[in-house]
Amino acid sequence: MTLNKQTILIIEDEADIVLGLTDAFTFEGYNVESASTGEIGVKMAEELFPDLIILDLMLPGINGYQVCKEIRKNDNGTPILILSARSQENDIIRGLEAGADDYVTKPFSIGELLARVRAIFRRLMTAKDRSSSKIITVGTCQINLDTYAAINGDITTDLGFYASAILQVLDERRGEPVSRDEILDAVWGLDANPTNRTIDNFILKLRRTIEKNPAHPKYILTVYGQGYKLID
Ligand code: CA
Repeated sequence: MTLNKQTILIIEDEADIVLGLTDAFTFEGYNVESASTGEIGVKMAEELFPDLIILDLMLPGINGYQVCKEIRKNDNGTPILILSARSQENDIIRGLEAGADDYVTKPFSIGELLARVRAIFRRLMTAKDRSSSKIITVGTCQINLDTYAAINGDITTDLGFYASAILQVLDERRGEPVSRDEILDAVWGLDANPTNRTIDNFILKLRRTIEKNPAHPKYILTVYGQGYKLID
């Protein structure tokens, strides 16, 4: 068996951050490449086939959202983790809707970021072990858990890795409330610590994809004091 190092592409213009991340990920055994502009990043993503992309939002030239959309035109599978000083919810939602899978806000700890990346890879391995092409149906929407594509009528949305994983957890216990802590444990594992707010943002993305009226959901319900529940 040959061990192939996983390649991480960092798209970030701040040299200090690139240096810090390169050191940390190299030390962890990853192969690291970096791009200092969005244009270069898009090109490198197409040529390198990285296993994961870490993407800054505020870049010279085309911004992180545009980079994300460009990459997603040809590639739904590579996890994209947004790294951004913009901690406002609208920016995060916009990033997720542009096709990112997860986000970490600056300032961040390297340990937290490494844990998130490990969790993404662990989850991908688990997903590969499961029987392939599992489709979840919710209302009029069909979600492919391998490609993260959600098809609702003639609209296809890239749900991304985490939103798909959260939906899978809810689907496995359809009809029952699932707490945010249970979702965190199942999807991120114990060594990553995203906040409950992170889950709420992914739920919002799921509702915008699946629900006719996301403000009054019929399928992904909030159970006050308990968490979320998926119903038919
Ligand atoms: Ca920047």
